[in-house]
Amino acid sequence: MTPSITMSATAQHYLELEEQYGAHNYHPLPVVLSRGKGVHVWDVDGKQYFDFLSGYSAVNQGHCHPAILQTFIEQSQQLTLTSRAFHSDRLGEYVKFITDYFGYDKVLPMNTGVEAVETAIKLCRKWAYEVKGIEEGKAVIIVCEGNFHGRTSTVISFSSDPSSRKNFGPYMPGFKVIPYNDPQALAAALEDKNVAGFLVEPIQGEAGVLVPDEGYLAKSKALCEAANVLFIADEIQTGLARTGKMLACDHENVRPDLLILGKALSAGMMPVSAVLADDEIMLTIKPGEHGSTYGGNPLACAVAMTSLRVLKEEKMAENAAVRGEQLRKGLADLHSRHISLIRGKGLLNAIVINHPDKEAAWELCLQLKENGLLAKPTHGDKIRFAPPLLITEAQINEAVTIIGKSLDSLG
Ligand code: PLP
Repeated sequence: MTPSITMSATAQHYLELEEQYGAHNYHPLPVVLSRGKGVHVWDVDGKQYFDFLSGYSAVNQGHCHPAILQTFIEQSQQLTLTSRAFHSDRLGEYVKFITDYFGYDKVLPMNTGVEAVETAIKLCRKWAYEVKGIEEGKAVIIVCEGNFHGRTSTVISFSSDPSSRKNFGPYMPGFKVIPYNDPQALAAALEDKNVAGFLVEPIQGEAGVLVPDEGYLAKSKALCEAANVLFIADEIQTGLARTGKMLACDHENVRPDLLILGKALSAGMMPVSAVLADDEIMLTIKPGEHGSTYGGNPLACAVAMTSLRVLKEEKMAENAAVRGEQLRKGLADLHSRHISLIRGKGLLNAIVINHPDKEAAWELCLQLKENGLLAKPTHGDKIRFAPPLLITEAQINEAVTIIGKSLDSLG
């Protein structure tokens, strides 16, 4: 079953450089990319692939989107960083733009996704002590089993994935883990008067695209509201049109108290993240109490505005909804005995592999690569299919054909 991996001397050279001089904190597919455009990427030997990972949903708008690239080039020739010691014209424009776009009073700009999660945790605790009146140091944030919110020492403290935690302790206290997709467990946990927030992914992406039951988000939000607890949505992976709506919470008309965004906020150009909230929460943080040198830099602000504009102008949420349906139907119509489950929303999808060989999902990804499509297994037997949102009907059909052919080769 093991597919023969073709690898040129050039590709081998770059791979060996990474292996020898880079930390071994990732296990990438053996492909070395050098170019991207729209839904495609090319390796150093010029071979073209469909990108069905989209940088873990950072490249929703497609690789090197021309309008976003233009903004990037123009702004980088003008002004890139002021630090927050000074104002910038772009920051002012951006904070107005993004708060109008999502309907919040204020935004706090950061860079990577996990920094925005950290920011939301700090905001939630501040609010708990200064508004809700929880005794200092006692605030609890409820999180879900199987969560993925990033890699800092605080955030891995409440991970349930042993490989994220092992030997990275001591761990940050103040988090309570409950099962995902379980409103009863949430209701029980909310009985603790020291609960300040509930941090949740509307769909658990890294866990293998776990889509909760319909109504889960709305029920959870109602329970939080009744308990005067902040509903904190990590939409870093699910947001920005990926699931067929601008936010995954929009499917249930839920407005998070704290909204966390990242990834596609810059369409893959640079790390840009944000936390949105209303004044009661956001104004608990005063000057000097939180920040980041690069957070809200003029280049990031300009790129984020165009990245958001493009999502609406090119109707990417609508396309994700339609193409997602087509993809799931196409996969189902393959009737492959190696697929035990197909799930997802919009263009955030996964298949679960049914095969006696534990390495089958990895082997399938190698085969997909040989056949011109890049995807990556998550949690062993699941493969995420999340192409850029501008993918066309014909391209989905082409991709499904590649997936079918690759599944056949699993024997
Ligand atoms: N939260 C979610 C839901 C994610 O999917 C990710 C990244 O995959 C993060 C947080 C962390 O983002 P970053 O890698 O930019 O720190």
